[in-house]
Amino acid sequence: MSLIPSLLGALGSGSLRIVDLTNTLQASTPVLRLPEPFENLIDFSLETVSEYDKPGPFWKHANIHTGEHIGTHIDAPVHWISGRDGHDVASIPPARLFGPAAVLDFSAEAEADNDFLLDVHHVEAWEAEHGAFEPGTWLLLRTGWDRYADSQEAFINADENGSHTPGFTAECAEWLAGREELSGVGVETVGIDAGRGAELDPPFPMHYHLLGADKYGITSLQHLEQLPPKGAAIVVAPLPIVGGTGSPARVFALLDA
Ligand code: MN
Repeated sequence: MSLIPSLLGALGSGSLRIVDLTNTLQASTPVLRLPEPFENLIDFSLETVSEYDKPGPFWKHANIHTGEHIGTHIDAPVHWISGRDGHDVASIPPARLFGPAAVLDFSAEAEADNDFLLDVHHVEAWEAEHGAFEPGTWLLLRTGWDRYADSQEAFINADENGSHTPGFTAECAEWLAGREELSGVGVETVGIDAGRGAELDPPFPMHYHLLGADKYGITSLQHLEQLPPKGAAIVVAPLPIVGGTGSPARVFALLDA
């Protein structure tokens, strides 16, 4: 029996709903800013080549200029030193980019404490309530941070000590990396590590542990409040950049209406 007609029928009738979890991509899209002496990627920009004019009288087209890790994007294993022999973004198996979404809502905690870190016991409590992760799961951490996604300043939330955005403890990062059922982790913030992730051991433990264990990260997600804790599926669609360490990605959720 083919399952495709049922899927398409459910989408057509509206009994399955698609939610776009992607931030728009433009020059003002908030991005990570590394401190000196590190070098930053370029922001996204469009360079018009023709606009129904002499260089192209019947068409409009443009060059895009962008860093890999800009806007809603995926981190591939080769992004981190611990995953340097792993998949680039083009070689991530497509089956790993579809999966069940486990949505952990810690927006109240992140509002009360912008440096909130998710720990192992939080995940264990979620699994005790909703059931253990299914194979291919993407853990999506809801923090409410998407409400700042149109402001570079609010999104990064930096003071003289650096950025203050929620994330994960080093213990949780290592524990998640060891969870066979997980394909990856998605967050609403600019990176999969907390704003103060450099101060943890190892520095940036989510990058270190997850990418070193062939799991993937997606950042700058939006609209997670529309997803149930369990029962939605997500689709992550990065560009297959050969040798790429990441790519802007379109991320969709499918859920029962
Ligand atoms: Mn990245």
